[in-house]
Amino acid sequence: MKAIVATADHKAEVIEKEMRPLEYGEALLDMECCGVCHTDLHVKNADFGDVTGRVLGHEGIGIVKEVGPGVTSLKVGDRASVAWFFEGCGHCEYCGTGRETLCRSVKNAGYTADGGMAEEVIVTADYAVKVPDGLDPAAASSITCAGVTCYKAIKEAHLNAGQWILISGMGGLGNLALQYAKNVFNLKVVAVDVNDGQLEFAKEYGADICINPLKTDVAEFVQKELGGVHGAVVTAVAKSAFNDAVGAVRAGARVVAVGLPSAAMDLSIPRLVLDGIQVVGSLVGTREDLKEAFQFGAEGKVVPNCEMRPMEDINDIFDEMERGEIRGRMVIDLKN
Ligand code: NAD
Ligand code: ZN
Ligand code: ZN
Repeated sequence: MKAIVATADHKAEVIEKEMRPLEYGEALLDMECCGVCHTDLHVKNADFGDVTGRVLGHEGIGIVKEVGPGVTSLKVGDRASVAWFFEGCGHCEYCGTGRETLCRSVKNAGYTADGGMAEEVIVTADYAVKVPDGLDPAAASSITCAGVTCYKAIKEAHLNAGQWILISGMGGLGNLALQYAKNVFNLKVVAVDVNDGQLEFAKEYGADICINPLKTDVAEFVQKELGGVHGAVVTAVAKSAFNDAVGAVRAGARVVAVGLPSAAMDLSIPRLVLDGIQVVGSLVGTREDLKEAFQFGAEGKVVPNCEMRPMEDINDIFDEMERGEIRGRMVIDLKN
């Protein structure tokens, strides 16, 4: 079967790969598609360490073709996902307290376990969340990482309906964050991106205010016009976006960090202490978060904007992503 792997020279390559037999608790997925996340770009660039030979991808969707011994959570014919949270240990303090994505023995698809950009994928059945009826595979793929990550991050911002959220970075994650914020959490949204094309796109999807930080000082504008936002989610891959978000929130607000630039942000200690601001990291979502995020997709409240591409386009997609040209999500078609 064909699979996309990371290479030593920081590219991706389509190779032929042999599948091993299933072990206890595993299932084999016949893959339909897999979205391309900016995290795949970080991984193949070795931003988090060398992973040469690893099958990339953590927005995978496929149909169960075979189950191994002991599997009760999936059956042949089910549609299931291959997510970044590929497997936890199931018994540590994090797994036991609803924070399973922080498990210290976690496996991550497309990073420490072979991921979703392949014609066939072996998953740990109990961790492969089922896709509900009525959600098409491409939309489900985007929700498997981009959707659930944003849905969870907005939960972490601790906001109430009618309040203002600032979402920085309107790419693959940000445009779904906007839809969850508007259509699920009933929030008012300030959309921020350095690319005017992304802001146009955000406007179409209902952003209340759009700001380009290359033209307008985000913190100054938001403080003057709104007295600060009630919370912020930063998906942008730039240190300045994190600093802008801290500057734009009102007292008592949470800034939820999602984007992964390899940098340190500047945090004014008096600003944090005197204004009671919290800065928290948020890592994808639990299996329950993903079920919820899928369901909002199935109900049509969140509609990912996907374009199907062949496996051979993977390096072009990474180049387009680096140049900030992608609107919504590019999804690798694993069927044609
Ligand atoms: P993307 O490339 O599709 O989108 C990034 C967007 O940020 C682009 O629209 C770009 O124009 C914009 N941007 C760049 N600089 C900016 C700035 N200074 N201010 C505002 N916007 C700016 O990427 P994506 O797939 O949406 O992923 C975004 C980041 O989130 C990546 O670092 C990825 O690794 C990370 N991520 C984290 C999690 C998590 O669980 N925390 C999950 C998925 C992805
Ligand atoms: Zn991702
Ligand atoms: Zn654990």
